[in-house]
Amino acid sequence: MELVTEKYLKAWESKSEQNTPQEFDPDYHPDVYIHERCGKATQLSGFPRTVSLRDPNWYFLGTICVHCGGGVPEEHCVWEDTGENLAAYKKRLTRRKSYAYHLIRWSPVWIGILFAAYIGFQQLQKPQPLNVFVGFPIWTLMAAVILWFPMRILRVLLCLLKII
Ligand SMILES: [Zn+2]
Repeated sequence: MELVTEKYLKAWESKSEQNTPQEFDPDYHPDVYIHERCGKATQLSGFPRTVSLRDPNWYFLGTICVHCGGGVPEEHCVWEDTGENLAAYKKRLTRRKSYAYHLIRWSPVWIGILFAAYIGFQQLQKPQPLNVFVGFPIWTLMAAVILWFPMRILRVLLCLLKII
């Protein structure tokens, strides 16, 4: 494992001298990670790897360790080649996504707020309106919960089609 890391760092240093070895090549995506609790390696391949690369937030209930089973936290895993933490890697991939991606990612929240504002405005026109201060967070949450799943599907589809 150390040898692989050294090899990678040397390759990275020679590739670009102005970058420090602590920075990670944005176009390099390792596929084997180590679950630090058990020390065993898991290879990410096929469709799950493609999905993870295109939509880094598609998988959100941790990752899988072939030794321990499903649902191990990403924070407990590092890439074998680079030593980068999986959770940090995921954040780095997310930061590189387009504005459209982030707009869709947070759409349940902002559409929820717009929906709640609309309902609140409607209520205030009525002679006996509902309590808008109580209603606003409830309406926002309701819309966000309803939109969460369809927006995730839309997001991953657009990512797989390389639109966002
Ligand atoms: Zn494990």
